[in-house]
Amino acid sequence: MVEGSSSYIPGGTYGLCDRCAAKRRLRDLRKEWTGLMVCGSCLDPRPPEMTPPRVKAEGVPLPNARPDNQNADYVEITAEDL
Ligand SMILES: [Zn+2]
Repeated sequence: MVEGSSSYIPGGTYGLCDRCAAKRRLRDLRKEWTGLMVCGSCLDPRPPEMTPPRVKAEGVPLPNARPDNQNADYVEITAEDL
């Protein structure tokens, strides 16, 4: 056994909270939605109103659709009109 190796703690590296500058273990820091690495007491959850609503398509257009011929503005054009 190597001398001094008993004090080694895996993942025991220290880091500073980006908000309050408290010294915490890196594994105890959380990445916030703002991108900051913060401690548990500084963690600010993302406000729900910042998440855009799920919007889906209202309808899929028919392929090769034609204009509606049932409206009143429709005038049939014959060869004699040209
Ligand atoms: Zn903090």
